[in-house]
Amino acid sequence: MDINKLQRENIKNLKPYSTARDEYKGQASVFLDANENSYGSPLFNEEDAAQQNYNRYPDPLQLDLKDAISKIKGVPIENTFLGNGSDEAIDLLYRAFCEPGRDNVIILPPTYGMYEVSAGINNVETRKVNLLPNFQLDLEGIAEAIDVNTKLIFICSPNNPTGNSIIRTDIETILANFNGLVVIDEAYINYAKQKTFIQELTEYPNLVVLQTFSKAWGLAALRLGMAFASRSVIDVFNKVKPPYNINQATQDIALKALQNIEQVNEWIKITVADREQLSKDLAELEIVKKVYPSDANFVLVEVIDAKATYDVLVDQGIIIRDRSKVTLCEGCLRITIGTGKENEILLNALKKI
Ligand SMILES: *Cc1c(COP(=O)(O)O)cnc(C)c1O
Repeated sequence: MDINKLQRENIKNLKPYSTARDEYKGQASVFLDANENSYGSPLFNEEDAAQQNYNRYPDPLQLDLKDAISKIKGVPIENTFLGNGSDEAIDLLYRAFCEPGRDNVIILPPTYGMYEVSAGINNVETRKVNLLPNFQLDLEGIAEAIDVNTKLIFICSPNNPTGNSIIRTDIETILANFNGLVVIDEAYINYAKQKTFIQELTEYPNLVVLQTFSKAWGLAALRLGMAFASRSVIDVFNKVKPPYNINQATQDIALKALQNIEQVNEWIKITVADREQLSKDLAELEIVKKVYPSDANFVLVEVIDAKATYDVLVDQGIIIRDRSKVTLCEGCLRITIGTGKENEILLNALKKI
């Protein structure tokens, strides 16, 4: 499979922007090449200011941060892309690989909304193949929807908003047979029993795995997403991305967070245990018709009257997500697993309905 052929024609021919940092990478004492303020930055906290030179442009390829991520994930730096949230990687996939007004992508509703929004922004057709009633892939439907202009298939596993993981052999079938990129969005993989696909990159040149710092890593506000893929896909990403897409503060904070993986692992364990407990407790409520099994940090719950239940909770300052208008999610609410205390408040409120 030739990734170069998959690129848009204008991207194939693109001469990327060359930064000052790209042109000179060695050691020096006087940097007069990037029109920065050589005196420093007016940060009032001396400690912050001393830690990093915020007056300087950041590393365009974030090599220190990628090195730290590589040690945890076991994926080489050259197979890693960092974006301003996973959302940037999703947008870049369209901009690099999909010709507006001609190419199409396949999405599998009910799923994450950004795949379709980003397609719309880029004027790329989305072909929808609904998941089966058990929220697994309709392999026949997908095969029928693919044509010569199909460039991407988005598979979210564990899936948002349904919470289930997609059967691994089904994903492998698509990876082995589809001539475009297969994007597996693993935003919730830390909460799943299922194994990640990042170890399969050498096996499948068309595999792109998305992960994020926004969920288990507790850093949604930073906007930091990861994409893991074959070298040629990563090279295309690096060519198309804005030169300094990850700011220095984000790189510093993420590096700090990566040193505290024990905390993250502990929270994952607690959240998974609480998910199982909350699922049981919810299932016993009279208003609850069904609690779907979840591999994520949320549960999808079918209730007798979704809108009314949602409104009662809002009145008490408890906000969940009403998904009852979403394909295959009729009557369903999506509830994030909170802290122990928050889950208790939620349950108590629901018991009174
Ligand atoms: C939350 C979420 C993300 C995270 O996106 P970021 O831009 O990294 O915050 C990605 N995919 C899915 C399916 C999500 O639910």
